[in-house]
Amino acid sequence: MKTDYLRVSVTDRCNLRCVYCHPMGGCNLIDRKEILKLEEIHRIVELFSYCGIRKVRLTGGEPLIRRNIVYLIEKLSGIEGIEELSITTNGVLLASLAQELKDAGLQRVNISVDSIDRKSYKEITGFDLLPKVTKGIYKALEVGLKPVKINSVIIKGINVSQILPLAEMSIHLPVAVRFIEYCPTSQYTKPASDYMPNHELRKVIEREFGPVSIVFTGAANGPASYFKIRNAVGTIGFINGRSSMFCHDCNRLRLTSDGKIKPCLYSSQYHDIKKLIRDNADDEHILRLFEKILYEKNKYTKLSSSASEFDMQKVGG
Ligand code: SAM
Repeated sequence: MKTDYLRVSVTDRCNLRCVYCHPMGGCNLIDRKEILKLEEIHRIVELFSYCGIRKVRLTGGEPLIRRNIVYLIEKLSGIEGIEELSITTNGVLLASLAQELKDAGLQRVNISVDSIDRKSYKEITGFDLLPKVTKGIYKALEVGLKPVKINSVIIKGINVSQILPLAEMSIHLPVAVRFIEYCPTSQYTKPASDYMPNHELRKVIEREFGPVSIVFTGAANGPASYFKIRNAVGTIGFINGRSSMFCHDCNRLRLTSDGKIKPCLYSSQYHDIKKLIRDNADDEHILRLFEKILYEKNKYTKLSSSASEFDMQKVGG
């Protein structure tokens, strides 16, 4: 599959403390001067656009707490060749920023919501902010960000009771509710035994709402398979990141907040692009490296043989 998608983590900071994402006991934040500057991000994306990158997603940490995020969106949306610009956010600040983001050129949004019960949302994230997130979802729909996708990670002992309420959202709202399988990322996050495979989750949904119909599966639109509950206005999606390998369908590179390009989420391999930039490498030099990274990524469909621990907050999921 051709690599045309770059996920950019714009900060490792977050305004939530989700139990499965934020390492227990806190995490080591990157020194601020090691975080890519907005101009550096812009330069990297622009150079990647010369090499065939067409889709860019901003993530984090929480991208909406990055200062001047609207300005960054505006700059990135001006890059010829970038056809799709999206963001993955926890939605806490979305209601206040959605219109500005849309006006700046943001097209799509994924909002992470693991519970629509206020008490359990607080238990998972550490903050009683579900009402703000809900407002953010409605605002995103209102300003015309499209599609609006909801990302939910279901973990045993934490939010299994939320499978049905989350799936039910897709019946009433024009959103795609996507269930992302939990992947333990380090010894400091929730253990692997807490993972709930999507095929079990689908059974729970079908028992309640009846058989779901296929909307589409396959790689063309990323690793999710989409289905519809009968009479639903939205869809539900399954991303089986743990129960099935989709290396051959992987079309993405990741840029970490401290300027490292990771060709594979699960591999320890990375390229320190920030160092090159701060050592004053010229565009030619950087482009040669990007072409090599893309060539290798497109040639070897399975890069993850050396599975490594990583911090989701720095890489951005
Ligand atoms: N703060 C933003 C948000 O909450 O969407 C962006 C960053 S967050 C790391 C991106 C996505 O990764 C979220 O949907 C989150 O649920 C997911 N995520 C975090 N840790 C994960 C894990 N261990 N396994 C699967 N998904 C995970």
